Amino acid sequence: MKELYLDNSATTPICEEALARYIEVSRGAWGNPSSRHGRGKEAEDVLTDARRAVREALGARDGQVVFTSGGTEANNLAITGRLLAKPRYKRMGKLLTTEGEHASVSAPLEALRAEGVRVVEIPTRGGEIDLARLAEEMTPDVVLVSMMLVNNESGALYDIAAVSRLMRAKSPDAVLHVDATQGFLKVPFTVSALGAHMVTVSAHKVHGPKGVGALWIDAATVKNGGVAATLLGGGQEGGLRSGTENVPGIAAFAAAIRARRADREQAAAHMTALRDRLVEGIRGTSRLAEVQVNLSPRMAPHIVSITLPRIKSETMLHFLSAKGIYVSSGSACSSHNSHLSSAMLAWGLTEAEADCTVRVSFCAENTAEDVDALLAALAEGVQTLVRMRR
Ligand code: PMP
Repeated sequence: MKELYLDNSATTPICEEALARYIEVSRGAWGNPSSRHGRGKEAEDVLTDARRAVREALGARDGQVVFTSGGTEANNLAITGRLLAKPRYKRMGKLLTTEGEHASVSAPLEALRAEGVRVVEIPTRGGEIDLARLAEEMTPDVVLVSMMLVNNESGALYDIAAVSRLMRAKSPDAVLHVDATQGFLKVPFTVSALGAHMVTVSAHKVHGPKGVGALWIDAATVKNGGVAATLLGGGQEGGLRSGTENVPGIAAFAAAIRARRADREQAAAHMTALRDRLVEGIRGTSRLAEVQVNLSPRMAPHIVSITLPRIKSETMLHFLSAKGIYVSSGSACSSHNSHLSSAMLAWGLTEAEADCTVRVSFCAENTAEDVDALLAALAEGVQTLVRMRR
């Protein structure tokens, strides 16, 4: 049975470039970057080069790159770390976010709310940040805005530049943190085009290794208090993330970044074509007539959310999995309900619809034949499972 992996938003397979670099650095530059001898310097140089790769990919001329254990830790550091650095914000400040953020943003915000901090979630119905509502909430007491660039469930690409314009005009003290975990090297952006002060990225979504990510913090924000460390110890990563760095993993992340940058436009065009083929295929297949495609006005190329006619996503997931086709039920990162996707509820689905929603996510390795195989399996699944339910 040929395996068909269509869950690239959950994670991507590591690429040859990253794997080769991981092995090379593990064998070669195995020193501790904090050691003050030749071996240490060699490892430190690897980190310096990787910081450059992250900065270049973000279009950032300066600023601090803090390597972390992934997107989750970078998001926690940005949010919790910023309020730790500015304790008075907890009493006086207001925080803005969106409905349907990844749990690594919504959970630290929820913890702050439990401490009495004001946190306001802006609706994202239909895959768009409600800018009118945002304008109302964007008051001078806003100190932190934390929003994702691409939603991991719906694939919606949010208008972060519009958020940043509003923020600069109405909340001059605020900093903008963007969780770009799903958008990084999938959609074109620079930190200045977004107007972001902090950006989260993660290696395993771009064919790098798991357990590696970074938080970029712009120079002005660093000067203005920056973030305070949430992990204390030896003071690595400029004091912001103690613990000996994962040097080979970070080097492999840099290799993945460089490889993705080299083929980003081609890959995006290819994934967009796959996405369109899937959407058109669903619309053109009579057995899939009742399947609803949850499109947003602006979308990343690699994610499609579809709602099945009264077939629970778990049931379809198992049906497809038995055929070696792997998609996601979009339930892994839920926080709202024990298993429903908070992102798709925020998008506007009912609970019953969210329960019947699957996410298909591509990488550049997928082909048109893969999409056709998925369409055929979906059509068979809908027919079989609907019949079983009767
Ligand atoms: N943010 C978003 C939008 C994500 O999709 C993910 C991964 N599911 C994360 C953050 C967390 O990243 P990591 O797995 O590297 O901790």
